[in-house]
Amino acid sequence: MQAGRDEQNPKKLMVDDYPDGDNSTIGLHPDKINELELFQGDTVKVRGRLRKETILLVFTDESVEPHKCRLNSCARKNVAIHPGDVVTVNRCDDVPFGTRVRIIPYADTLEGVTGDLFETFLGPYFREAFRPVIEGDSFIIRANMRAVEFRVEKTDPEGGCIVSETTEVFCDGEPVERAEEDPDANVSYEDLGGVRKQLGLIREMVELPLRHPQLFRNLGCKPPRGILMFGPPGCGKTLIARAVANETGAFFYLLNGPEIMSNQMGASEKALRSAFEEAESNAPAIIFIDEIDSIAPKREDTHGEVERRIVSQLLTLMDGKKSRDNVIVIAATNRPNALDPALRRFGRFDREIDIGVPDEIGRLEILAIHTRNMKLAEDVKLEELAAETHGFVGADVASLCTEAAMCCIREKLDVIDMDSDTIDAAVLASMAVTQDHFKTALGA
Ligand code: ADP
Repeated sequence: MQAGRDEQNPKKLMVDDYPDGDNSTIGLHPDKINELELFQGDTVKVRGRLRKETILLVFTDESVEPHKCRLNSCARKNVAIHPGDVVTVNRCDDVPFGTRVRIIPYADTLEGVTGDLFETFLGPYFREAFRPVIEGDSFIIRANMRAVEFRVEKTDPEGGCIVSETTEVFCDGEPVERAEEDPDANVSYEDLGGVRKQLGLIREMVELPLRHPQLFRNLGCKPPRGILMFGPPGCGKTLIARAVANETGAFFYLLNGPEIMSNQMGASEKALRSAFEEAESNAPAIIFIDEIDSIAPKREDTHGEVERRIVSQLLTLMDGKKSRDNVIVIAATNRPNALDPALRRFGRFDREIDIGVPDEIGRLEILAIHTRNMKLAEDVKLEELAAETHGFVGADVASLCTEAAMCCIREKLDVIDMDSDTIDAAVLASMAVTQDHFKTALGA
């Protein structure tokens, strides 16, 4: 069993900031500590968003409200949450002492730092307290008027450990370059525009059964099993499913309808079965079936034996969800009417949600999302663009923004020296995407 897999006694607490808090602690009110049957100094596993978890030490703090907890910015980052979000705190008594840990500095925080990292930073930090660490955690250590950020690469035993005086701390090797992360792994509700109502319906159907399937069992009813989303290509169906998985911390399994169909005899059913098996073993999980109409077309349209077998396999897998209360299937299609009606009956896909084409306000929200990291000139009026893009779905809005940026770059091509590896800072500073760039992109 991994350290801290103890999922008993989960408690959800709203997070407050903790400017004076230590990286390794969670501040809790004494009443909450009693309620959770903890003591100061105990280790707890804290789970936030995007499947992120960390291990922290309980610290008594009279100033925090009993239903809240306090985390400093490092601890918040490690569980991908902001103040006001909710974390789950589980007691976790079995965190072992580490034999070895490998902790590497971030290259960008090392600039100008000389001397021995262990002597100056890590040694004193770990001598201060018996700190728990878990792979992937980052933390900042301040010493000598410098702040160096480190990342825990590996712990032995795996799954997190406490660094004690007998733990060997290694910090050799190449510093971590801050890599561009897999963009899909971070998709959150903040990346979705124009789908507030639809997202509300989906969250209601998905979050409770994934997190607390026992609520449904307690009332003697089955939790919802599937949602069917329909809408034109590029309206955000995949994005929504990913965001829901990330935000609920669910495992995400993507099945592509047409890809499954191209498999050889028998391989398609096997792909479905192994999707369900893998989802089940990683539950809570969301299985997303894109373009489900290609694997489950209306039976009268189907002459092929293959489709018939695949539909029956899918129905069996969905009907037979005995122990799979916290596995939810989200399927997407552009053509709901082309779908086998057996799949649409109650008990398979409990809810059908029309994602549809966004209206003007929706387009404005999507424009704001796709331009939030862009350098825009002051004359850019997103409202005007939203009004002029009738019929655009999210993907169209996204490519409009990319195209506008391309227009801006094309304009500067004559002053960019193609033979040089670097671009003149003055040229970079003078570039910004203007309303005209958007207009040109729209006309293109
Ligand atoms: P679908 O699954 O409906 O075909 P996707 O979810 O794959 O569409 O969308 C493609 C891309 O278009 C997304 O990665 C995103 O950049 C953009 N996009 C689509 N819908 C939205 C939306 N509602 N809000 C923000 N961006 C969107």
